[in-house]
Amino acid sequence: MDKDKNTPLYVFKYGGNAMVNDELKDRILKAICALYDQGNHVLIVHGGGPFIQRALDRAEITSEFIDGQRKTSAAAMKEVETALKGEVNSDLVGRINAMGYKAVGLSGKDGQTVVGQKRLHIQRLENGEQREIDLGRVGNVLRVEPALLNDLLEKGYIPVMTCIAQDEFGNSLNINGDIFAGHIAGHLNARAFVVLTDIDGLFRDVENPRSLINTITLGKIEDLVKSGVIQGGMIPKMEACETAVRLGARAAYIINGTKPDQLTALTTGGQIGTKIIYGTQDK
Ligand code: ADP
Ligand code: MG
Repeated sequence: MDKDKNTPLYVFKYGGNAMVNDELKDRILKAICALYDQGNHVLIVHGGGPFIQRALDRAEITSEFIDGQRKTSAAAMKEVETALKGEVNSDLVGRINAMGYKAVGLSGKDGQTVVGQKRLHIQRLENGEQREIDLGRVGNVLRVEPALLNDLLEKGYIPVMTCIAQDEFGNSLNINGDIFAGHIAGHLNARAFVVLTDIDGLFRDVENPRSLINTITLGKIEDLVKSGVIQGGMIPKMEACETAVRLGARAAYIINGTKPDQLTALTTGGQIGTKIIYGTQDK
């Protein structure tokens, strides 16, 4: 099937916690490749928290976590890069190739597709004061240059990208995978930004399986963070979905990456996971 600039693009964020075992990984990748076969462009951005943890353990590097974020020294960054690019990225590329497709493994460094900026974290203390904390090699997305990815997509490749970039001075930075993926999906005007995680979507109450939120508009997200409904790992996911939609993705979805059938429902229009869209009230 011919593909060009107007071919719909699906950008997936594949979380390390959803990479439970090889069999499941292959079923997810097959479902993604099925979308490719149906005439879409597909692009995968991945993280790999558990793989990073194992690499740091092997290197006997202990990490300090500040508000859920890993303080990353230059030595730790080397291990992060080895785990994400050398291990997880290479594994995903190999699996897609083995299924008969042409995957290309990248990080944000390649073609300077993503340029990062060191992030200064503002910590809010209990007494109400704030202080700046240096998290080391932890970054934000400064800018995205989508040309290389668009070239690869138009030539029929499946880009597989990990969430590492350099800053303007050439230092390697680790960027949150959700946030990184949201910027990519937005800048490439994805038809859908799909976050694959280990839960069925955004819940009003994580303990109550019947409280899944089917659709949410951008303006409603902030209140759910303030009221504590959105917590922990779900915070950067919702931020990433908002970024993607604001920058140009048509919609974002949070779905369960441990249930490959949920992916099939993406194109058949079935109700799956949580859909994040612009509301009429959103600016
Ligand atoms: P990933 O590896 O995919 O990034 P995370 O563990 O970082 O996964 O984020 C997903 C987790 O977010 C869920 O497993 C859940 O424990 C947590 N979470 C917090 N608030 C919510 C919520 N309101 N609805 C669903 N999950 C939530
Ligand atoms: Mg996470």
